[in-house]
Amino acid sequence: FNNLPPSDLNQKIRVCVRKRPLSRKELEKADKDVAPLNGTRSLQINEPKLRLDLTKYTEQHSFTFDDVFDLNCPNSNVYKRTALPLVHYIFKGGKATCFAYGQTGSGKTFTMLDPKQGLYIMAARDIFSMLREPENQHLSAWIGLYEIYQGQLYDLLNERKKLFAREDGKNNVIVTGLKEYPIDNVDKLIQVFDYGSSVRSTGSTGANDSSSRSHAVLQILLKHKINRKKIHGKLSFIDLAGSERGADRGDADTKTRMEGAEINKSLLALKECIRALDQDKRHTPFRQSKLTQVLKDSFVGNSRTCMIATISPGGSNSEHTLNTLRYADRVK
Ligand code: ADP
Ligand code: MG
Repeated sequence: FNNLPPSDLNQKIRVCVRKRPLSRKELEKADKDVAPLNGTRSLQINEPKLRLDLTKYTEQHSFTFDDVFDLNCPNSNVYKRTALPLVHYIFKGGKATCFAYGQTGSGKTFTMLDPKQGLYIMAARDIFSMLREPENQHLSAWIGLYEIYQGQLYDLLNERKKLFAREDGKNNVIVTGLKEYPIDNVDKLIQVFDYGSSVRSTGSTGANDSSSRSHAVLQILLKHKINRKKIHGKLSFIDLAGSERGADRGDADTKTRMEGAEINKSLLALKECIRALDQDKRHTPFRQSKLTQVLKDSFVGNSRTCMIATISPGGSNSEHTLNTLRYADRVK
């Protein structure tokens, strides 16, 4: 496994896994890391036999991905092998999407949208500096942030106003009414973004796990300065809803069950759409969820997709971790 060749950064679809460190709480409970890495591209997961004795395993599963980032890997290194190639790609006129997929608490937001060190900040910094180069003087960057909750779109930069998606006949999906800001520096971006993430969906069970029930989409458009309707490239960062939301959770109330069913549906449709990217003849089920509907233009024509599956390495999460790895494996 250690001798696998490095993977190509310019593949149409890249699937990477990121493992976070055990949290203080997990360490206090003497939770053990059950997902050791085998080299830089593959990892193993050891299913604990008993929750109480994490040294006894029933089964070991091995997976290979385009990259596996270990617990000490900083966001800057993750960025170089995930979102950075996408930044270059959109300047060439393409559309690109970077997803974080995983159970709640596994590090999706930390990776994608952390206000200080998320990949979106690093991408934006590079985009702003590339826009200052002479050959890009005709372009500017526009930023929008919305969430998809229960099949509905809400503008996070405009008081959660309801939004609708349509197509413009030139293979672009337009989110009608989305408030977009022309931004050319990181300070302004952070300021706008702080406001946006503070209004993300809060539900009846309290604000603490609110973001786990909706997909957040940060969209960076490169537009032509003289004709703002003309889109040159598009990069979306997506912090998906927690993958553990199941429709079959017996204890949940009706609202929670409906949320779970909707999330399941959209994550399933997402998997099918990404898989179809590699197999041109297959039918692509865009219509099956709002998530895949708004991403349609990023799945047809010139497109690049990078998925970062985030995992918690603790034995107490091994079931969710195995589910996440299986999902990521199916996308490849
Ligand atoms: P999610 O968005 O998937 O629910 P978070 O991104 O909120 O998960 O992460 C849960 C907690 O773990 C946060 O406190 C976060 O700071 C921490 N964390 C996540 N990933 C890492 C990492 N790679 N290194 C250090 N801490 C991390
Ligand atoms: Mg989160």
